[in-house]
Amino acid sequence: MPEAIQTRYRTHSCGQLRKSDVGKEVKLAGWVNVYRDHGKLVFVDLRDRDGLTQLVFDVDLCGAATHELARSVRSEWVLSATGVVTPRGEGLTNPKLATGEVEVRVKSLEVLSSSPHPPFVPDEADSVHEEKRLNYRYLDLRRPQMSETLRVRHKVAKIMRDELGDQGFWEIETPFLTKSTPEGSRDFIVPARLVPGSFYALPQSPQLFKQILMVGGVDKYMQIVRCFRDEDPRADRQAEFTQLDVEMSFIDRENVIAVVEQLLRRIWKEILGVDVPSPIPHMEYDEAVNTYGSDRPDLRFGMQLHDITDLAHTTEFGVFKNAPMVKAIVVPGGGKMTRKETDALAEWSKGFGAKGLAVTKVVGSGFDTGVAKFIQPIAAQLIERIGAKDGDLLAFAADKPAIVHKVLGELRLKLAKDLQIKPSTEWAWVWVVNFPLLDHDEAENKWNAVHHPFTSPLDEDIPKLASTDHAVLSSLKSKAYDIVLNGYELGGGSIRIHRMDVQQQMFSILGVDEAQQKSRFGFLLEALNFGAPPHGGIALGLDRVVMLLRNTTNIRDVIAFPKTQSGADLMCGSPSPLDEKQLKEANIRIALPPPKA
Ligand code: ASP
Repeated sequence: MPEAIQTRYRTHSCGQLRKSDVGKEVKLAGWVNVYRDHGKLVFVDLRDRDGLTQLVFDVDLCGAATHELARSVRSEWVLSATGVVTPRGEGLTNPKLATGEVEVRVKSLEVLSSSPHPPFVPDEADSVHEEKRLNYRYLDLRRPQMSETLRVRHKVAKIMRDELGDQGFWEIETPFLTKSTPEGSRDFIVPARLVPGSFYALPQSPQLFKQILMVGGVDKYMQIVRCFRDEDPRADRQAEFTQLDVEMSFIDRENVIAVVEQLLRRIWKEILGVDVPSPIPHMEYDEAVNTYGSDRPDLRFGMQLHDITDLAHTTEFGVFKNAPMVKAIVVPGGGKMTRKETDALAEWSKGFGAKGLAVTKVVGSGFDTGVAKFIQPIAAQLIERIGAKDGDLLAFAADKPAIVHKVLGELRLKLAKDLQIKPSTEWAWVWVVNFPLLDHDEAENKWNAVHHPFTSPLDEDIPKLASTDHAVLSSLKSKAYDIVLNGYELGGGSIRIHRMDVQQQMFSILGVDEAQQKSRFGFLLEALNFGAPPHGGIALGLDRVVMLLRNTTNIRDVIAFPKTQSGADLMCGSPSPLDEKQLKEANIRIALPPPKA
């Protein structure tokens, strides 16, 4: 902990004093955390971001006036007090506090600020509704948990800059007022006053700029940068979030992976003292989806998906017999779930597009309840294939592969949580590699890029871009990769297309015609035409990294000034209407949609 800067207000921080300081005259400044008035003695726990120190006002030492002043202080007042560091009496030490062996016997006191009784005090924030915490964010930020998170966040950013700086990366800023960068989301737009009728888009990521930096010979780029995506509210997303953005030239996937692993290793070691495996294992995208039902598999527990389509098709059970795919998971100890609980699962599965969920329980070497009677004929083969044992629950999904994977993928996460299944490890790291290049949107009958349109296909797949065959296009693989920790995607990137003709082909598949290619991406195509090095990179979500390090699932807890799920900043009250003058200057006329009936 750095020592406090000596000022007229303080000589030490509130977390700094130890037994070795006994006898020193010191000055501390901070907020009143707790005060206790015992008549002749007044106790105040003074708090700053480094900790708490107990101040004692003894009328015999500080005199009547200071003692009176001390009796008047209240929660969250701001004080500066001078006194002598003294050992706490026998039995009065507080082992929970770093400064708990000493107290400061005050000689003089200055009240720097007073406060009415605050809507909540830091100690009670856990029981306060989050809306209130966001409204009075400055009170919330005084909590030790919040200041620890900000400290960790700062440290992570510093390690990112130090580590990558040491490896020769340059931090370069890219514009916020820019043109749309397609990352699969909606843009935030900003009216351009000087060009009436025109708009900037806030970047969904610096993707195109970092690629152009490579064309510009920068070689190794990094930036801790804000990205803006106008997405529908989701619990762990923010409209503006922070990425560590990285791009490198003359490299392959393994080079990017090595840089990121070294960085993650340093972060986890320096912050938590935890070793990250070296190397982090790789898993094919296909395996992740087939075995875990997700492209960000949580590998802390088993419950893998088993393909039993062939066996299911031999039964007389219509739901199984006629389904394109049937898969099952074995839920260890799930046999103790009640009928009510398993019925609720079937209902829950409908939220993921399933028609229902079939279950049964393993009793001895057979099945009981649910679909037991339908699968009796395949019992022996089934148990052997999926390795179920007495007391387990089997859950089946029968549907199109996408739905089967989604439902069972979500189900294993839900049951791991509900049944408190013990994780096999605290940290489960994996690189997911060889993603599909394209994804077909049935509703719109068009192809989308799975990562983004600038991601390179595997070399052997480049000639196949000319195909119009649906099966060929859906089989193409890309040079994209994601780093996944405990089921969270910490980041993702790819090797890029660096040939103009290939990029044009890719745009055509995605339905971006020549005129749009020119108007939206002309600058990129032109840059690729003027000597682009092979390049690639990645972006790590800083907010996610800090969430995992701080063991929280609430993204708002790791951002100093976050927005609510509806995109509101409750403290400053944004978004808010503009006044007439501002609208006029921006050449904007408001036409609100009719109110919903
Ligand atoms: N631009 C990508 C993203 O924001 C990351 C990358 O491909 O480097 O997800």
